[in-house]
Amino acid sequence: MCLSIRRTCVCGKTEAQFMHRDNILPEAILVNLYCPACCGQADWDGEAMTEDGGWILEYDMEGARFLLWDKGMAREVTPDILFEEGYCSWNGLTPTDLAERTRLHASLAPLLQGDRLTYINALKKTMITYVNELKAAGWRKAQHV
Ligand SMILES: [Zn+2]
Repeated sequence: MCLSIRRTCVCGKTEAQFMHRDNILPEAILVNLYCPACCGQADWDGEAMTEDGGWILEYDMEGARFLLWDKGMAREVTPDILFEEGYCSWNGLTPTDLAERTRLHASLAPLLQGDRLTYINALKKTMITYVNELKAAGWRKAQHV
């Protein structure tokens, strides 16, 4: 089970939604979150940080190692593993993926008044276009979809 967690970036302008795979890591494992507007404040540290779409995620790596090794993970734990394997990562493909999908669904809702198939096809097309745009923009989790 994965709970959705909301986190606000350092400058407080943007909120991101997170999920923590199997809930092994607590919310506090993400020490700092920088959005594209405040990522300039981050003092880059490749040992504790990873980057996606202009956002920087800073983890408590010591805590993450302790908890994951305690759970039997027999590998080195890196910020990329936490991100790529979903131990502390976007809920969805981007920080705002869920909200964006809700918005896209809502924008197509008027079509529900008409033919069901038209709606389904429009939704399919919209979602494919949306994911392709994320892929093209370089969002890491979108590359594997
Ligand atoms: Zn910010």
